[in-house]
Amino acid sequence: MATYRSILIVDDDPIVRSLLRSYFASLFVKNIYDAADGSVAAEIVRDHLDALDLVITDLNMPGIDGVQFLRNLHDIGFRGDLVIASGESEAILKTAGSLAAGRDLQVRGCISKPLTKNNLDEIFLTDRPTAAPARIRQTIDAVVLAGIINEAGIVPYFQPKVDVRTRKIVGAEALVRGEDKSLGHLGAHQLIPAAREHGLMRDLTNVMITKVLKQQRAWNDRGIELNLALNIDPAQLREMDLPDRLADFAQDLALKPQSITVEVTEESFHSNFLDVMDVVARLRMKGFCTSCDDFGTGTSNMDTLESLPLTELKIDQSFVSKGLTHTFADAAVHAAVRLAKALDLQLVAEGVETTDELDYIAEQGVDIVQGFLFGPPMAAYEFESWYLSNHGYVPDLSIDTEERAAHRRQHFKQKRQPVNY
Ligand code: C2E
Ligand code: MG
Ligand code: MG
Repeated sequence: MATYRSILIVDDDPIVRSLLRSYFASLFVKNIYDAADGSVAAEIVRDHLDALDLVITDLNMPGIDGVQFLRNLHDIGFRGDLVIASGESEAILKTAGSLAAGRDLQVRGCISKPLTKNNLDEIFLTDRPTAAPARIRQTIDAVVLAGIINEAGIVPYFQPKVDVRTRKIVGAEALVRGEDKSLGHLGAHQLIPAAREHGLMRDLTNVMITKVLKQQRAWNDRGIELNLALNIDPAQLREMDLPDRLADFAQDLALKPQSITVEVTEESFHSNFLDVMDVVARLRMKGFCTSCDDFGTGTSNMDTLESLPLTELKIDQSFVSKGLTHTFADAAVHAAVRLAKALDLQLVAEGVETTDELDYIAEQGVDIVQGFLFGPPMAAYEFESWYLSNHGYVPDLSIDTEERAAHRRQHFKQKRQPVNY
């Protein structure tokens, strides 16, 4: 639950202002300011910039409207929480939320009017992370990172991929992790941006390819046959020798290319598309599987997808978690399913965390799932003992299908609003 000391309510409707005043008074907020339009609101924010810790704003107001006001909040340098409460359509509300987050404002949530105690409580009485105070990240020094890459500090973790129907563990995605004496354990969100910044992505990718394929050889030798997926950055996907390097290495280790998947994100398709087509075509000709990662977050169109010989689509986790509750995400999942069927692609859903999400995804016809529900990314030895203790299959999660279906229907009805970020 959030505790606020000073807040600002911005709404042209006096009834809404008074309702919100009473609501926040009941939460013991000490200073409650209000404004009927964006220009008065901007003045209040300027005057109380250091003290204000929440602004709750309408979108449709006379004079400076809510969207302009969001821009002002950014320009003034407001660092508190932001909630957008509006009677506009879900699409406009969502766009306003994304705009605000894109302008580095800390969006705590968006509420569809009419305001009720329930939808206010959902935002203000639950512990929810606000959007990260964007773009604050500590980068790893170039020399330190080069040391980590060259001195065995890169460690691939493996996250299981499970067949929805048979529950068989069919593969694993390799995700980069690092170990450093002074920095400790490092995640992909630290290593990847730093490697890009310091021009070390090729080296990092080579180390990952080497380690992952050697691990696959070791597992094959112990009777564990899995398809292993590697993530390839957009810049590496334009290296014309990538298919040859990968094929030579697989051959040296006597690995079947069909047991290796190259995951590329939609972001890779944005420039030099001919080079991307060239590399992806040659990867396929050499027998590797090719996957479009984070599907739905980019802007690839039908033409792009049709002109690439892909074998897999991975629906981004944001659609998995919101598909149950948001019309747009649900429609995106349906579109992905149709597209995968039309292009004969294996469909994977990533980021499956709950049995409700699993039920939803399974019902849509997704083939493979990946997510914390089954297993987090694990070091190779942890993955192996987890795999062996499960005898290659994850436990059956369908405890009471009828009861869960009823729960899901209820959940779907109740949770369509508000739109949260
Ligand atoms: P990705 O390829 O889409 O990988 C999935 C990410 O989602 C992983 O984050 C994974 O830990 C996380 N994840 C898996 N299941 C769940 C879940 O149920 N819930 C939630 N909330 N998250 C889940 P990670 O390991 O931090 O990697 C982030 C991204 O960094 C990857 O996204 C990928 O784009 C990139 N990456 C990771 N390893 C490599 C690599 O070796 N090379 C390149 N080029 N990129 C990599
Ligand atoms: Mg991936
Ligand atoms: Mg992904």
